[in-house]
Amino acid sequence: MSNHREPTSPIDIQGGAANARVSSSEVMQLSPEFLNNMNALCPVATDLETTTEASRDWWPHDMHWALEGVVTQRASIVCRPTHTDEVRRVIQLCNEQRVPVTTAAGRSGVSGGSIPIKGGVVLDMCAMQGVVSVDEISGVVEVLPGTFGPDLEAHLQPYGLTIGHFPQSFDISTVGGWIACRGAGQYSTRHGKIDDMVVALEVVLADGTVVRTSDAPAGADGPDRASVFIGSEGTLGVVTRAWLRAHPRHEHQWRSAWSFDSFDDGMEACRRIIRAGATPAVLRLYDEKESQRSHGGDGSRSFLLVLDEAHEEIVAATERLVEQEFASLSARREDDKLVANWLSHRNDTSGLQALTKKGFVIDTMEVAAPWSRLRNVRRDVIAAFESVSGCRLASCHLSHSYIDGACLYFTFAATPGVESFDATYGALWDAGQRAALGAGANLSHHHGVGLNRSRFMEEALGSEMVVLRAIKSALDPNGILNPGKLGL
Ligand SMILES: Cc1cc2nc3c(=O)[nH]c(=O)nc-3n(C[C@H](O)[C@H](O)[C@H](O)COP(=O)(O)OP(=O)(O)OC[C@H]3O[C@@H](n4cnc5c(N)ncnc54)[C@H](O)[C@@H]3O)c2cc1C
Repeated sequence: MSNHREPTSPIDIQGGAANARVSSSEVMQLSPEFLNNMNALCPVATDLETTTEASRDWWPHDMHWALEGVVTQRASIVCRPTHTDEVRRVIQLCNEQRVPVTTAAGRSGVSGGSIPIKGGVVLDMCAMQGVVSVDEISGVVEVLPGTFGPDLEAHLQPYGLTIGHFPQSFDISTVGGWIACRGAGQYSTRHGKIDDMVVALEVVLADGTVVRTSDAPAGADGPDRASVFIGSEGTLGVVTRAWLRAHPRHEHQWRSAWSFDSFDDGMEACRRIIRAGATPAVLRLYDEKESQRSHGGDGSRSFLLVLDEAHEEIVAATERLVEQEFASLSARREDDKLVANWLSHRNDTSGLQALTKKGFVIDTMEVAAPWSRLRNVRRDVIAAFESVSGCRLASCHLSHSYIDGACLYFTFAATPGVESFDATYGALWDAGQRAALGAGANLSHHHGVGLNRSRFMEEALGSEMVVLRAIKSALDPNGILNPGKLGL
């Protein structure tokens, strides 16, 4: 398995993984008999280094603590199944013995979703990599869940196909993680979220049942079963295979950069072209602060980057529509090279690590709302972050657009000062997330809930929690699958 891609560690642990202290005590001790049985089922590891590393992700809270030599929790054992039947047998044994199982893959989640908060087993899906088949006529790709972004796209290139899912974490995240977190790529305004790309799933349930959902392109045979697992963050089943929609690959691109008198003017420009039916792959509008920080603005204007990639005729129509609509607003054409500049550093994550090492509280919060509420969401969330003691930065960009609304992506940073890191971090999230909910946005657009946002689930979902709890207790009555997540 030497050519397999492996997870990327978020940040070094002070003193090394094997010496890390664990901050959470509530764990189940596993018997030697259980460990022996597991060993007979699939490849396992129990050494401190492997179990510690497999119990972490890119949650900024934990990245900070890693620098102090602390991790939130450590699994007792890491199982690394190589095919569906091994997953089935591992899950079945855990269910019989009531042992918690946390599925982990690229471990690039930013909400603590793959941290095994109750200990037990980490099910590492990274041995299940690769494209199994390509239906070239329909454009449907059968892929294993531990496949990382670059390998998936490289496999599809000779077929002239692309899935079109390019999250910033493309290099370090997997198909299973994208599905489990309901992720979004940077080209989503043309290709949609992962929700739109999933045709069908194979999922192992807590009792070991292996479910394959319908692969019809559309259906009216009851509620959609695959969607139950999309966004379920490992709490309802383990995704062991996926069938994804692929699009013809197009080399033809149009890039343009614009600026507006204000973010609100820019949002109106985006709304107009999207409502008119344009779907440029990339449509990213930055507030004045982010325009200055990353795109050469002087701090007085809001910059918008547009990139489309599709059939030449479709791109030409988008270009005409954008130019026509923007001419009637306060838009000013900027140097189109700004798009190339963004493309060249869009997946660079070094800034996050550098600021974490300097002791900053730094994180991002992404939420979605209808167009009619977005102005208030931005205003209220920025004001809420800025009201927290120690806040040094609160900025925003619009990152993904839909016919009825968009995602606003906030970046915030603080110096903890006399307050502890945890208190400042918690206060920022409480303020920002509650302001977003209060202004009518949802809890998360694509980062998911994990541990970090679990405390908001009840107030965000309200009566929908009844549905989620009922599904959870029907599919996982013993609560073994990723306990402590999604507010369950
Ligand atoms: C720098 C950076 C940038 C990012 N940019 C984006 C972005 O642009 N768009 C975006 O959507 N996200 C982004 N993310 C977040 C993260 O990459 C995504 O959530 C990604 O989908 C997680 O995939 P993973 O393979 O790393 O999953 P993990 O982190 O290992 O797991 C995430 C969750 O999925 C569950 N899970 C994983 N595999 C399975 C499976 N096979 N079956 C069931 N459950 C499973 C885990 O239990 C956990 O709850 C970013 C993260 C970082 C660090």
